[in-house]
Amino acid sequence: MYEKFLNEFDKKLAAYFERDAAAIKCKKGCTFCCENADYPLSLLEMKYLMQGFLKLDKSRHGRVRENIRNLMSRRTSVYPCPFLLDGECVVYAYRPLTCRIHGLGYLRSDGIVKLPECAKIGLNYSENFDGHSVDFEPIKEDLNLDKIFAAHPELEFGEIRSMIDWFC
Ligand code: SF4
Repeated sequence: MYEKFLNEFDKKLAAYFERDAAAIKCKKGCTFCCENADYPLSLLEMKYLMQGFLKLDKSRHGRVRENIRNLMSRRTSVYPCPFLLDGECVVYAYRPLTCRIHGLGYLRSDGIVKLPECAKIGLNYSENFDGHSVDFEPIKEDLNLDKIFAAHPELEFGEIRSMIDWFC
C-alpha cells in the first residue's frame, strides 16, 4: 500500500518540479540537502528505508554502519545523512518523504510560503526571494509532513523522529 502511495506521490512531485523548473537548481552532484538537515521520518518510512539498507552490498552496508556509529558518537541537531556515499544516495528508491519533497517551495496552510533551505545559499527559488518576500506563485499544497500523514491515516505512518534517533 505504501509503494502505491509513493508512486502517486512521486508523480505529483515531478509535476511540481516541472512547474517550477525555472527556479529549481537541483542537479546531479549537488548534495546540500543531504548534508545539512535532521531528516525527520516516520516509523513506516524508516521500515521502508531499512529495506533499501538491507539490499546494499557488504561494502556499502559497512560504510553506512560506520557513518551511523560516527553520528551517534557526536550527536548534533543537523548532520550529514549516513546514506550519502561518494555524493550519492545509496537508498534512493527507499528514501523518506522529506527527501522527495526537498527542493520545492510551497504555500503552507497557515499562509506562509515555505522555501527550501538551499534558497538561502543561492539555489532553489533564490532569484524569487529578496530575504523578506517572494515574487512567484507558490504551489498551493501544504507539503509539511504532518499534513501528509494526517491526509493518509490508512497508511499508519507512526511516530516521527530525526533519522539518527531511529538508530539510538
Ligand atoms: S536518504 Fe538519500 S536523499 Fe535522503 S538525505 Fe539521505 S542521502 Fe539524501
